[in-house]
Amino acid sequence: MSADPLARLNEDQRRAVEHGVTTEGRGPLLIIAGAGSGKTNTLAHRVAHLIRNGADPGRILLLTFSRRAAGEMARRVERIAAATLGDKAEALAGAILWSGTFHAIGARLLREYAAWLGLDPAFTIHDREDSADLMNLVRHELGLSRKESRFPQKSTCLSIYSRAVNAEMALDQALIEVFPWCAMWKEDLRGLFSAYVEAKQRQGVLDYDDLLLYFAHAMAEPQVGAAIAARFDHVLVDEYQDTNRLQASILHALKPSGEGLTVVGDDAQSIYSFRAAEIRNILDFPARFAPPASVVTLARNYRSTAPILAAANGVIGLASERFTKDLWTEKTAGEAPALVTVRDETDQARYVVERILEKREEGVALKAQAVLFRASHHSGPLEVELTRRNIPFVKFGGLKFLDAAHVKDLLGVLRFAENPRDRVAGFRVIQLMQGVGPTTAGKALDGLAGAVDPLAALLDFAPPARAGEDWRDFIGLMTALRSRQLGWPAELATVRSWYEPHLERRHEDAAIRLLDLVQLEQIAAGYPSRERFLTELTLDPPDATSDQSGVPLLDEDYLILSTIHSAKGQEWSQVFVLNAVDGCIPSDLGTGSSAEIEEERRLLYVAMTRAKTDLHLVMPQRFFVHQQGRGGDRHIYASRTRFIPPALLRHFRQVMWPMARATATEAPLQPPAPIDIAARMRGMWR
Ligand code: ATP
Ligand code: MG
Repeated sequence: MSADPLARLNEDQRRAVEHGVTTEGRGPLLIIAGAGSGKTNTLAHRVAHLIRNGADPGRILLLTFSRRAAGEMARRVERIAAATLGDKAEALAGAILWSGTFHAIGARLLREYAAWLGLDPAFTIHDREDSADLMNLVRHELGLSRKESRFPQKSTCLSIYSRAVNAEMALDQALIEVFPWCAMWKEDLRGLFSAYVEAKQRQGVLDYDDLLLYFAHAMAEPQVGAAIAARFDHVLVDEYQDTNRLQASILHALKPSGEGLTVVGDDAQSIYSFRAAEIRNILDFPARFAPPASVVTLARNYRSTAPILAAANGVIGLASERFTKDLWTEKTAGEAPALVTVRDETDQARYVVERILEKREEGVALKAQAVLFRASHHSGPLEVELTRRNIPFVKFGGLKFLDAAHVKDLLGVLRFAENPRDRVAGFRVIQLMQGVGPTTAGKALDGLAGAVDPLAALLDFAPPARAGEDWRDFIGLMTALRSRQLGWPAELATVRSWYEPHLERRHEDAAIRLLDLVQLEQIAAGYPSRERFLTELTLDPPDATSDQSGVPLLDEDYLILSTIHSAKGQEWSQVFVLNAVDGCIPSDLGTGSSAEIEEERRLLYVAMTRAKTDLHLVMPQRFFVHQQGRGGDRHIYASRTRFIPPALLRHFRQVMWPMARATATEAPLQPPAPIDIAARMRGMWR
């Protein structure tokens, strides 16, 4: 046995790790503290400590904010445990069976308990785009199309629906609070949502929100709820400040007395209220239990240098309301963060690339550096510059590889085979065939809707003559996929060769797109089954990269590009925040209410606290605003974000870039003694 694994922890962290395991008091625990204070690290230590003290890793549920975070946490736990468990550590590899997002865990449990809940265990999951498509379909069926009226768009309908579901709000209330301009459509919306729910049920599909909603309802049922709750001795949640009411009610049903429940978070980093995250969840946590939960706060920051921390503390210190207190650090050396003024976004990209390359020269890997921005499209000019300079990057939280039409087609085929009642998938796939349009596809799918044997119903359908051969091939493929005779993931190669002629007919760049599909097969090989592949890919798709084929260059060094929202919980040596200007942070759209402004301030705080040693906030003077339906795109002349008022400037180094030209070259040249050029010209002819 090696040295005390807890030796590196400070006293407060240690108290949190040992709470109820090797010390008295087994009740619920809240760890609430600022960024970089070691919350996630403490949580990992706690899990390792539980296991060391006899907890069964298979009965621990670890809820994180992303699949990436879940993977990192599991690895961290294994590493910590390995340092102390010696031989026994090997058995621990992969032993934490239940770690993931609320949505992913929900999907797994719902499948497992489908029979108890009257669900089809082969349900497919709709991503946001699919959901919007289905919402649109239903809207047309009800005659609520936008053409005749100013009825809200499909994405707005979906947002209203999603908001009401996640915040456990009545429709009236959701409309009043967040979508007042849609209130006049209340009754139509109610009809639409009820038809939408029926359509999902008929088709055996669940959307993102359903995963939480069904999970919460299952937990509220005495038998299923008890059966699920009985599977977990310990439930631990990271980033608790960004959970919504449904997630909180799931947790309370999993651990009604709070015993075995640990939640961790920072109210100053709550940035998901647009997804109905409820900051009160974390603030009210202790009092929800009797006796109330134990609370541990951490005060020391281990991530950032003092100048960075001082600037971040300054920004969040102006917040109107906050529970967590300022942090301190021992890393007193270091440069103040830079506040960089550049001309426009092109210069912004150049500045960033130059600094990044400089750091790399000093030996800091690209992977230890990140560029953060508010919205995915803000990194456009930077991506161009990086590609031009051949610097590999991976982009988190951006446009997904899976959004490409050809990738969606292929996944649609698998989804349709898995669940032929999934109308959105069916529509997509059936229309791939020549001569088949929406009307024919609709008829074919109508025939499937109530059929006991969907395959037989497809066989019975008489397709248009032009589709004849295509149709037969398609039926052949479906038969093979539904019988699972090809095996997983081998069947993907068959699907691809079936799809190739369709791809070539539809896209001029078919050869390039085909490479994506080959990559998809490689990704698929990492999943044990078709169903797990489809579920997990929908819930947490791979990140987009600079590599055309869209797969992370795992062994290589690459720069991280990320939205601030997706950067939660992570840290890098050098961090750039793009567009630190009013109109972007806070965004033009987020300036409606003071609550929205406060959330934008926390967003900047999250961004700044990702940096360990170097932080740059870049401010293009001219900045491009993309405004859908609000007067179109335009340039604005921007000024420094209001979250850094003059009083905070002393925390920053102000930089103009490119630097003003050296005065020597700018000053008018002193002419030497003049030559008589005219006389020379004349002289030439003498
Ligand atoms: P965030 O709020 O951003 O999620 P956090 O509170 O979860 O941050 P961690 O990511 O757990 O913080 O830790 C931040 C950094 O501090 C990590 O690099 C971690 O290894 C380090 N760290 C945490 N605790 C200690 C400690 N006791 N001694 C040394 N380093 C520590
Ligand atoms: Mg963390």
